[in-house]
Amino acid sequence: MSVLNAKVLVLNRSFLPVHVTSVRRALSLLYQDIARAVDGQYRTFDFASWADLAVEEETIGLVHRAIRVPKVILLLAYDRVPKRHVRFSRFNIFARDANRCQYCGIVFPRAGLNLDHVVPRSRGGKSVWENVVCSCLRCNRTKGGRTPLEAGMRLIRRPFRPEWTPFIAETFNLRRHKEWIPFLNAVDAAYWNTELLDE
Ligand SMILES: [Zn+2]
Repeated sequence: MSVLNAKVLVLNRSFLPVHVTSVRRALSLLYQDIARAVDGQYRTFDFASWADLAVEEETIGLVHRAIRVPKVILLLAYDRVPKRHVRFSRFNIFARDANRCQYCGIVFPRAGLNLDHVVPRSRGGKSVWENVVCSCLRCNRTKGGRTPLEAGMRLIRRPFRPEWTPFIAETFNLRRHKEWIPFLNAVDAAYWNTELLDE
C-alpha cells in the first residue's frame, strides 16, 4: 500500500510547517492524539472526527472502514515529537540559502557555489551558521581573504541558524501537494518562496 508512504506536511501549533512525514506516521500521530488532521478549510479533526468525514478522493482501507488520507497535520504539542537537530553541513547551508549567492543574489547550480566565511578564518571567523554563507565562485574570488566591508561587498541577508530543518525545503523540490501551498506561503523568508518559485 504505497499511499501509506505518501508525504504529509506537519505543522506546529502555530500552523507553521516544520516537517514532512509519511501517511503511516501521520495516522499514528493522529490516532495517539498527538496531532490533528487539517482539511482544506483549515479545520482540524481528531482521529474519530476525521474518520467520520465523508470519504473523498484517496482513501485507505482500514480493517473496518475507509478513511480519508490526510495531506496536512497539526501537532498539538510540538515538544512531544523529537526535535530534529539542524546539522551544520554544506548541504544544509545550501538549502538555507536556497543555492543563492549571498553577495550577488544570483541562484546557481550547486557546482557553481562555494561556502564563504563572512569573517575569514584567518581573522578568527568561526565555522558557524552565523558566519558561513553560499557564495558563487566569482564573488568568492573577488572577496578573497577579506571581510565584506574591506571588499566593498554586501550580504543580501544576515546569515542565521535555521529554525526549521532545511530538509523540508529539499523535500518540497521533490513533490508537493496543493493542500500544502497555503501553509508554505504563510512562512516568511526568501528561501521558502525562492524554493517555490524556482521549480
Ligand atoms: Zn555571487
